[in-house]
This record gives sequence, structure tokens and C-alpha cells, in this order.
Amino acid sequence: MPEIIDGNLIAKQIHAELKAKLEKFGGKRKPCVAFIRVGEDPASVSYVKKKARVAQEIGIDSRLHLLPESVSQGELENIIDTLNADDCVDAILIQAPLPKHLSEREAFNRVRPDKDVDGFSCANLGLLCQEDSSAFVACTPAGILEMIKRSGVETSGKRAVIIGRSIIVGKPLALLLSKRGVDATVTVCHSKSENLGQVCSQADILIAAVGRPATVTADMVKEGACVIDVGINRVPCASTKTGYKLVGDVDFEQVAPKCGKITPVPGGVGPMTVAMLMKNTVAAYERHMPESASK
Ligand code: NDP
Repeated sequence: MPEIIDGNLIAKQIHAELKAKLEKFGGKRKPCVAFIRVGEDPASVSYVKKKARVAQEIGIDSRLHLLPESVSQGELENIIDTLNADDCVDAILIQAPLPKHLSEREAFNRVRPDKDVDGFSCANLGLLCQEDSSAFVACTPAGILEMIKRSGVETSGKRAVIIGRSIIVGKPLALLLSKRGVDATVTVCHSKSENLGQVCSQADILIAAVGRPATVTADMVKEGACVIDVGINRVPCASTKTGYKLVGDVDFEQVAPKCGKITPVPGGVGPMTVAMLMKNTVAAYERHMPESASK
């Protein structure tokens, strides 16, 4: 049987480490993360609630800036500018996806790099590309690397295949896995990739970040591989109260018996993303309040 990598458990360990670290700080104020949420997309509502709850548990203050669906790019950027200038705000998170009329890229780039705990700005992506340790790394890729490391998965010289090339997951993850010290040999696949199954079947570490259930089937997985499922898909389910359940991009039942290690959905990558947001927020606070951090 494969080892199930328990993202909830690893995330809780990270929360405890951060809480202990903050308890040692003698700061005049707590760390503070500001969330910007536009509209009432149910998934975004639930993600921001979850992030605020975890922040509170760790000892991080949070603020929610709730903007109407109809907000203009200019109005959104005014809020970002205000938070950029606010010395009591360490971290800014713009919950994606934004409504179609808004430019996510411009919004992400507007966030001051030292408050960009999502790591989506061109400044932080550039620093990541340069392997500069001061980069804030996007939370999902950072969480994936952290869970791989903490689960004892060897990366050096291993073949990693990522399905998906988004700026949120696939691209920064490719940079992280191929950087010096991690040293995987990385292939990035996407919707135009030919022979996807064959490419995936060579992976020691296979990461699916597509957004389509059962994209990864058993024939695509090498015996003993580590499979990381990033996908979050709602599929109809008559036996749940909500009428749906969450599944990943991997056909878990079929794939798991072939794997050495595998992440579940839910309870895999999701909690790690939140844990990395907290880690980045504490790191931003340490930069803004160096006297407190060094106590
Ligand atoms: P995007 O839609 O931005 O990217 C999806 C990628 O998958 C694209 O690169 C696309 O290729 C590729 N793709 C689509 N269909 C196929 C296919 N048939 N074969 C191969 N590649 C394909 O999604 P995100 O990266 O934002 O998210 C991916 C999934 O991860 C979603 O389910 C999302 O909900 C989830 N997610 C989970 C997080 C977590 O914390 N657990 C955090 C972030 C995302 P192309 O570029 O050619 O279009």
C-alpha cells in the first residue's frame, strides 16, 4: 500500500512551529495579513474564511477588504495602494480568481514585493527565477516542495513531471524543483503536450495541476512514484448534504496501489497552501519588524 501524505498533519506541524516562533517575538504589534476578496464566489468565500481562521490560531491578525463584483481596476488598485502604504499591514493577499473584467496580473504586480506573500508579482517571480532566497514563493508550489521534503521524498537527480503551466502552480513549481539544492529534472506538460501518458509514466515525482478529474490514470504512473494531486474539482454526489464532493485530478482509487506515496484530495496540497501563506506572512513581519523578530 502507498504512503498517504497527510497534508493536514504536516500543515498543523508548520502552524505549531510558527505559533511557537511568534510567541518568542516581543513585537509592539502582531503580524497582519490583509485579504482582498472581490464578489461572493463561494470557493473564494470559504478559502478566505479558512485562511483567516488559521491566521488567528497562529497569532496573526487579519483584515478583510470585501469589494463588490462591479469594482473597477482603479478602485481595486486604490485599495492595494492604501494597504501597501499601511505600516501595520505585513502581507496582502488578493483572492483569485478575480471577475473577468479585472486584470489579475496588474493587481498582483501592484502589491509591494515585500508584502506579496502570494509570490505572484513579477518581482518575486523574477527573484525565484534567480534562485534568490529573499523571494516570496507562491504558496501552493512552496507547500508542495515542503510536503515532499518533509515526507522524505528524494528529489536530487529524479525526474519530476508537472501537468499544468499556470503562474499559480506549474511555472513556479518547475523553478522550485529544478533549483540548485532540489535538483530534480523537470518536465512541464500542458494541454498541447503529445504523449502525455508516456511522459508521465517516466516520472519519479508526478504533479497534477490541471483542474480536470481523472486526468491521471493508473497507466500513466510509474510503479513506486510519488504522486501529488493539486486539483480541486467539485463533482456531483448524491450522498453528501451539499450534493457534491471534492476530487483531485488523479484517479485516486486506481492510481494509489501503484504509488510509493500519494496525496489525497481533500487533505493534501490544500492545507499546505494555507500553511505557506502563514509562513510567508511571518517572514514578511520579520522583515518589517526586525527588532521584534530578533528578541
Ligand atoms: P489553470 O487552469 O490556470 O491551469 C491548468 C493547466 O492545465 C494549464 O496549463 C492547461 O494547459 C493544463 N491542462 C488543461 N487540460 C489539460 C489536459 N487535458 N492535459 C494536459 N494539461 C492540461 O489552473 P491552476 O493552475 O490555477 O489550477 C489547477 C488546479 O489546481 C485546479 O483544480 C485548481 O482548483 C487547483 N488548485 C489547487 C490549489 C490548492 O491549494 N490545492 C491551489 C491552486 C490551484 P494550457 O496551459 O495549455 O491551457
